[in-house]
Amino acid sequence: MIVELAENEQQLEQIINILPAAVVIIRGNDLVAESINNTNLAYWDKTREEVIGKPLLEILPELASQPFPGQLRQVMRTGEVIDVRDSPVLFTNADGSKRETFVDYTYQPLTDRNGLRTGVLVMSYENTQRVLSRKLLEEYSEQMQAMNEELTASNEELIAAQHTIEESRTALRLAIDAAELGTWYVHSISRQLISNARLKELFGYYPEEDFTLEQALAQITDEYRESVNAAIEAAIHHGGDYDITYPVTGFHDQRQRWVRAIGNLQPDPSGTFAAFTGLVMDITEQKTDELRKNSFIGMVSHELKTPLTSLNGYLQVLQIKARNSGDTFVSGALDQCVKQVKRMTNMINGFLNVSRLESGKIHIDKQQFDMADLIRDMTEETKTLYATHQLIFHPVEPTMVNADREKIGQVIDNLVSNAVKYSKSGSRVQVACVQMEGSARVSVRDEGMGIDKNDIPRLFERYYRVNNDNKISGFGIGLYLSAEIIERHNGKIWTESEPGEGSTFYFTLPLAN
Ligand code: ADP
Repeated sequence: MIVELAENEQQLEQIINILPAAVVIIRGNDLVAESINNTNLAYWDKTREEVIGKPLLEILPELASQPFPGQLRQVMRTGEVIDVRDSPVLFTNADGSKRETFVDYTYQPLTDRNGLRTGVLVMSYENTQRVLSRKLLEEYSEQMQAMNEELTASNEELIAAQHTIEESRTALRLAIDAAELGTWYVHSISRQLISNARLKELFGYYPEEDFTLEQALAQITDEYRESVNAAIEAAIHHGGDYDITYPVTGFHDQRQRWVRAIGNLQPDPSGTFAAFTGLVMDITEQKTDELRKNSFIGMVSHELKTPLTSLNGYLQVLQIKARNSGDTFVSGALDQCVKQVKRMTNMINGFLNVSRLESGKIHIDKQQFDMADLIRDMTEETKTLYATHQLIFHPVEPTMVNADREKIGQVIDNLVSNAVKYSKSGSRVQVACVQMEGSARVSVRDEGMGIDKNDIPRLFERYYRVNNDNKISGFGIGLYLSAEIIERHNGKIWTESEPGEGSTFYFTLPLAN
């Protein structure tokens, strides 16, 4: 078209020079540059003299390794039009450095008047800046995309975390509701109480009513009020876990309920106060069951005691008769019977005491007596009862205490029977009593299996038994009862033990002054 419009070379040059594109006409197999406009010269960074009449690869040898010479020849051969967008073109500068450019170009075949293809009109628009900016933009947008993805991911994580928190809050709320738990919060300084409706209900208040700590304490029965208050104060001042069971009388409904309150102290982030918070549950049913069970055990034990006492009486009479008749077999058999009856009596006394303890009816009957006497009195009986072991009672100095003689005797008996039970027959069990630091200290030492240090803190709990494989029978009440009895005398009870070596159980009683 343009080429056909031009009547001669000069005109052609004029025409191509006003075009906005870079234009060059390439002719013949050697790809000789025939005409070129200024835009193209500027693009190639060449002078007209360096270009006109010269083969393309002489002008720009660097193009040899690029697709253009091949494409130009292809256009001349086939007559097709080649149209390429954003093609990279690499030039070598005079100083040897590289210049990367981008162009949109069209190769248009040129034919002579006879229809023979003689050359190619090359029109190119350099768009290096546009392509580079676009590339930059693409890179940015990739980075943005990555950042966005990261942001989305962390956003999703945040949302998920929030969901989890929400869910666990809801789950907790549901659990609290389902379990009908009272919740409370006490401000460590102002003692302000915040509670839920269920807590108010447990104390016999209506949900919309005000409910203060004093009002709560007022509904606790008289015997427990002081100790609950003391436990709250202790928890607020010293921290630690709070777990306490007590009875309350409903304010409006006057209903008796047993509740268990658990909680702990949590410092406020401000550091100026702490929140004493926790839960209260209604354990009336459980407690009633327990009381019922205890009174049943108490009743049965009590009923069993009467026939056992008379059995024991008959056995003793028979023992005397057998001794007098010189029948050693009968006499020996009767000794065994007496021993077994004594064991049974001890066991039943244990049950009776637990049930009395639980119902708050254990009675401590204090009197002044000498520990030396008690231990001497126990020696003979104990030695016959536990004939399988070497029982050694160390001599005791006169040691006056003010205590329940029978119950202290029971404690010593419990410790000795455990020492025998948990050690090999023939081994030694030593009982001693010494005075130290204003107390009488009794110790019972054995050479038995010993106790793992993890079990020691729990030994004195009710029904606690060490889970050892051997089949030693027991109920886990001996040490619990002993500890309760000693505690009621303001004494201490503890153990020192080495697994495989043996144990020593100690208790102290204040000396009588
Ligand atoms: P019981 O002997 O009926 O199980 P106790 O309350 O008397 O209950 O004792 C609790 C647990 O303490 C026992 O089950 C036993 O594992 C452990 N124990 C008590 N005394 C000894 C001891 N002298 N040596 C080793 N273990 C002992």
